[in-house]
Amino acid sequence: MRSPILDYLDTLIAETDHIVGGAPADYIPELAAADPDTVAVALCTVNGTVYASGDAEHHFSIQSMSKPFAYALAIEDHGLDGIREKIGVEPSGEAFNELSLDPETGRPRNPMINAGAIATHALIGSEHEPALGRVLDFFGRLTGREVQLDQAVADSELATADRNLGLAYLLHAAGQLAGDPQESVTGYIRQCAASVTVSDLALMAATLANGGIQPRTGERLLCRESTRQLLSVMATCGMYDAAGDWLTSVGIPAKSGVAGGIIGVLPGQVGVAVFSPRLDGHGNSVRGVEMMQRLSDDLGLHLMEASRPARSALRETLRVTLEDQPATIYVLQGDLVLSSIEALVHELIQTPPSTDVVVFDMSRVDEVLPVARRTSSEMAAKLLDEGHRIVIVDPESTIEDFTDSRGRGIERWSPERLGSAMG
Ligand code: GLN
Repeated sequence: MRSPILDYLDTLIAETDHIVGGAPADYIPELAAADPDTVAVALCTVNGTVYASGDAEHHFSIQSMSKPFAYALAIEDHGLDGIREKIGVEPSGEAFNELSLDPETGRPRNPMINAGAIATHALIGSEHEPALGRVLDFFGRLTGREVQLDQAVADSELATADRNLGLAYLLHAAGQLAGDPQESVTGYIRQCAASVTVSDLALMAATLANGGIQPRTGERLLCRESTRQLLSVMATCGMYDAAGDWLTSVGIPAKSGVAGGIIGVLPGQVGVAVFSPRLDGHGNSVRGVEMMQRLSDDLGLHLMEASRPARSALRETLRVTLEDQPATIYVLQGDLVLSSIEALVHELIQTPPSTDVVVFDMSRVDEVLPVARRTSSEMAAKLLDEGHRIVIVDPESTIEDFTDSRGRGIERWSPERLGSAMG
């Protein structure tokens, strides 16, 4: 059975098909040549389940989405206080490539703008281990596969790097660059050319959502302190001069890249990633921003309306005889939010019910977000289509009535009827 979460991602792609505003980045010639209609989306839960739709196998350069991860390595090397002295955490309110340093200290304003990211890159290299190798190795552990460079993108950006070189020389003049300006820019540009897919990025974002532990391998890749720090900086500075708009409307820590990718993190629940190469004036993907907005609205991701801690939606599964027929009862509980409903759907797909009669007992459910209402209705419809008889015990009427293609509908039982049928 196909997961309703995948169906949802397909719909998201179809429904944003008309968004063709903006243009691929052209200051890096190789990016200007991207097929502007390529589009992909992926979501990864803190359990490591990845759902992807669209051109999910398409590789593109990570660009500025590399910045928070390089920042994490810098925190690991120099400690949080050490890094705070060298790189600020204030939103600059300016474009990503602005020549902006704090006028008093000469420090870059934050690690998400280029000045801060070049300084960060210079801080994570040593004679024994160049920064680039470390970053690529880190990406490999975050994605669970070897990450390669897109050499054409790197060469193309290196040939047009005057602005980044200008930034590096300014940093150097202010005593704020740990390495040689030319070498730092070359390394930073290569870091940005690491080639990834939306599924890779969703897994990287899910590692942040999971407190720094890669959900597939179980390896701790970032300490709690640096995870918290980089999520905070992504929330305030990740979308550059659109950061305020972003936090109020989409409401999750995020980072964009000029190839057209955006990652977003809902701590404790999911990492999401989108890709579409046409950019707005801030350097953020136009369709990507819209897809993120819809993901946030449809899946209930806004941080400031986060619900209570998510427990598993499934309290227990019972095999019983109901009115002379073998039945499976799924007893649900708590708040039905994206992560809890996803876990339930995953379980139902992995271990489909073996009885004709399937009961969803929702009498212990508290709050049901729209995403959970929709997903559970779709799941019930799919089970109905497969020939199951579906009984819902739903005192609050959260699930709407519907019939399948053969005109069969769900049956509604009161908690009392279920109680007496179970004897
Ligand atoms: N490599 C790009 C640059 O330095 C990254 C910018 C971005 O993705 N916003 O200009």
